[in-house]
Amino acid sequence: MQAPAVTDNTQTELQPLTELKGVGPWLAARLEKIGVRKVEDLLFLLPNRYEDRTRLSRIGTLRPGQHAVIEASVELAEVVYRRRRSLLCHVSDGTGGLILRFFYFSKAQQEQLVRGQRIRCYGEVRTGPGGAEIIHPEYRLLSDDSTPSLEDTLTPVYPATEGLNQARLRNLTGAALGRIEAGTVPELLPDDVLKEFGFPALGTALRLLHHPPPETPLNVLATGRHPAQRRLAFEELLAHHLSLRRLRERLRREGALPLSDHSGLLEKFTASLPFSLTGAQQRVFTEILDDLAMHAPMLRLVQGDVGSGKTVVAAAAAIVAVATGCQAAIMAPTELLAEQHFRTFSAWLAPLGIEPAWLTGSLTAAQRKASLSAIAAGTAKVIIGTHALFQEGVLFNRLALAIVDEQHRFGVHQRHALREKGAGAGHEPHQLIMTATPIPRTLAMTAYADLDVSTIDELPPGRIPVKTVAIPDSRRYEVVERVRDTCGGSQQAYWVCPLIGESEVLEAQAAENTAAKLAQALPELTVNLIHGRMKATQKDTVMQRFIAGYTDLLVATTVIEVGVDVPNANLMIIENAERLGLAQLHQLRGRVGRGFQKASCVLLYRSPMSQQARERVRILRETNDGFEVARRDLELRGPGDVLGTRQTGLMQMKIADVTRDADLLPDIQKTAGRILSEQSDLVDPLIDRWIGADHRYGNV
Ligand code: ADP
Ligand code: MG
Repeated sequence: MQAPAVTDNTQTELQPLTELKGVGPWLAARLEKIGVRKVEDLLFLLPNRYEDRTRLSRIGTLRPGQHAVIEASVELAEVVYRRRRSLLCHVSDGTGGLILRFFYFSKAQQEQLVRGQRIRCYGEVRTGPGGAEIIHPEYRLLSDDSTPSLEDTLTPVYPATEGLNQARLRNLTGAALGRIEAGTVPELLPDDVLKEFGFPALGTALRLLHHPPPETPLNVLATGRHPAQRRLAFEELLAHHLSLRRLRERLRREGALPLSDHSGLLEKFTASLPFSLTGAQQRVFTEILDDLAMHAPMLRLVQGDVGSGKTVVAAAAAIVAVATGCQAAIMAPTELLAEQHFRTFSAWLAPLGIEPAWLTGSLTAAQRKASLSAIAAGTAKVIIGTHALFQEGVLFNRLALAIVDEQHRFGVHQRHALREKGAGAGHEPHQLIMTATPIPRTLAMTAYADLDVSTIDELPPGRIPVKTVAIPDSRRYEVVERVRDTCGGSQQAYWVCPLIGESEVLEAQAAENTAAKLAQALPELTVNLIHGRMKATQKDTVMQRFIAGYTDLLVATTVIEVGVDVPNANLMIIENAERLGLAQLHQLRGRVGRGFQKASCVLLYRSPMSQQARERVRILRETNDGFEVARRDLELRGPGDVLGTRQTGLMQMKIADVTRDADLLPDIQKTAGRILSEQSDLVDPLIDRWIGADHRYGNV
């Protein structure tokens, strides 16, 4: 095969789909649903798998599980009524016999399959009650003397799409491939990159993947590691990486207000804290201070395990903004966490004469109006809220620092939406992003290519690791006694009732039932309930009572998963633990062990536990280290699931798979640097091809 003659690689032609024969507005709309907007996109809609219809197999050689084309004559077709009415068509080719089994069939079909009729069919062979059979084969009747030719390439099978059958998709991609021959689909990888990594040219790769020659190894294609696939994965990851890097460059060029504290506010703050910062907190805060003092916006991610003390670092950064006469906003993913931050910040900032403002979706109209006007007038210096912060109608006076807490709960777009509320007039706000979900370095290179990363790799002193045990549900009564003992003293406990995959309503109900039962079993304790369906004010009251120590046992849904910080709570019971993922279990467990007392986490499970669930429990019992948990989680599940699909555009890749293709990432980082400095004319076309011109990270 020959590489296409490509001349101009800077112009990506954007051909509307309706230019293709047979594609009208209806079909174009269908295709748009699967991300195909222009002719070129069709090329990157790759088959899920392939079928080999390039040769005939003899029935006598077939093995169960094999997909094969056979040619045979009908010996007998009969309708049988065993369990289900079905049509059985016995065929043979001289080397053996086979049954074609149909559950759905028409009278006409039945009449065609007469003794002696020649037939060619394709399907998966299995062992049925009467020997080898194929259920619902694709078939065609052959006239006595005809032998239609077989396919001359492997047959691609595209992802199923409503309203689009395989034949149609094959035709469409075939037509799109024609554009490559015409030279209108440019090669966007520089020659030396192709050479360095041994990648085929774009046209060669695409032709191979849409119409693989018969000798192409299907097993290699199935693993996604064929050079043609690797080449496309490389290009796609490169495009995402470039998009984030360019966004970073663009933001950095915008400039920012340098922030620094000359008023002694910061010292006053650290002196008023009941603890001193850990070495790791100090180091990370110094990195932040250095960034803030610059005329370019800070773009920094702070990773730190649950309980490592990220909040106080964020507060210190906010104080620097205030000291410079600007505003800082802190965005949290849940109302509960936003409320908690509001309380923490209020307590910390009060001695400095700073009163935070507060903005969530559940404020009354009057409260909202008051908050909005304080934010717009600049009297509110520190603003805490949920994603309500970046909604329409919110106007900041001088926002110079945007802090996003538990960023794994937000998408990259939301993170930038808050940024856009920024200082204006050529100034970007500094960005501080915090997460308790650390990711390995190679992955961070791509997922966070626009950010600098700091890590708080130390817990505050005196923390005793949480002891984790797993107990079957049948011994629930023992756990209830344990709660009685723990809460009988001065300590408090959580009892979490997650209902995975169920609605919030059902989850709330389950928690309600459990709370009622526990209150009955533990009459001497004060049992309270919190769940996502409660009004914000109700939730607030419940949390206040728990923080004040009035409540002994807090029965909760997963609303308490992120951020909640009550150091006197030392026992955590998690029901249905076998159904939760590692990261979520670790986050929940992180709600206890925040003080100086011994804390435990009981994983209540229903037997029998799956192999995977047992593995998760084992990991949690072995380690309290969030980085280690994340590493193991990544091994068990892969990054797509670990980061969640909302994390970045990264996870909605067309071809690349960050687990499978992780080994490409360091080379991609290098190549991106080179392209940015030497061949920057390639950047736009690459981003347009893989992410879409209007979906670039910067334009959302
Ligand atoms: P996370 O990193 O999970 O957001 P938090 O910021 O909520 O953790 O901190 C957990 C707890 O540790 C809080 O109660 C906080 O006040 C406390 N804390 C933070 N830093 C220190 C420190 N240096 N010494 C002692 N306690 C600290
Ligand atoms: Mg936190």
